[in-house]
Amino acid sequence: MIAILLGPPGAGKGTQAQKIAEKFKIPHISTGDILRKEIKTGSQLGNKAREYVETGKLVPDELIIEIIELQISGPEASRGFILDGFPRNLAQARMLENRFKALSLSVDKVINIDVGRQEVISRLTSRGICPDCRQVSTMEEGGQSKCPDCGQKLIKRKDDNVEVIEKRLDVYSQQTEPLINYYRDRDILVDIDGEASLSEVTERILGSL
Ligand code: ADP
Ligand code: ZN
Repeated sequence: MIAILLGPPGAGKGTQAQKIAEKFKIPHISTGDILRKEIKTGSQLGNKAREYVETGKLVPDELIIEIIELQISGPEASRGFILDGFPRNLAQARMLENRFKALSLSVDKVINIDVGRQEVISRLTSRGICPDCRQVSTMEEGGQSKCPDCGQKLIKRKDDNVEVIEKRLDVYSQQTEPLINYYRDRDILVDIDGEASLSEVTERILGSL
């Protein structure tokens, strides 16, 4: 099973990707998570990517492609994988298509999780992430929320502030949204209403795969 999750920031791609990954026992490849890890450890890749990630711009394609090559060629990926955060523009989608052709692979489904701009802004400004289990929760006013699973104090992602959120949304509509028609034309796109409840969204996605 090879699936791609599309949708604006805050659509719930990470949460849903995790559920699909568990169900099919395949890796969840999140370019955003990988970049944040590289930035945290101060690797060469992380240092090159930092400025882009913190300001909500797309990291140059060459850096992302390096990451993807590594992830999809590993033994864990032999039974398939879920791509979350990649491709994010037409150049990346074309690169993936060429690479897959060479490897005799093909994308089974592209899940487009649709959420409106207002909802995205409201979700992201109140989003907290557990530093231990990575679970995403809503922070209460005052920011003292704890992870419902492990009780750790939630942290905010550095790019979850209004200016950077606006920038990420612009980048999404200008560069990523055209991929919806790109994959619709290939007859592999599934549209999902991302404003339904988490479990309903999961159910609909799993039902479409
Ligand atoms: P979100 O979808 O919530 O904006 P992600 O965690 O997917 O967040 O990505 C965070 C940041 O990482 C992006 O704003 C961008 O700077 C960078 N990034 C992630 N994936 C890609 C990609 N495929 N191409 C370029 N930049 C990327
Ligand atoms: Zn936790």
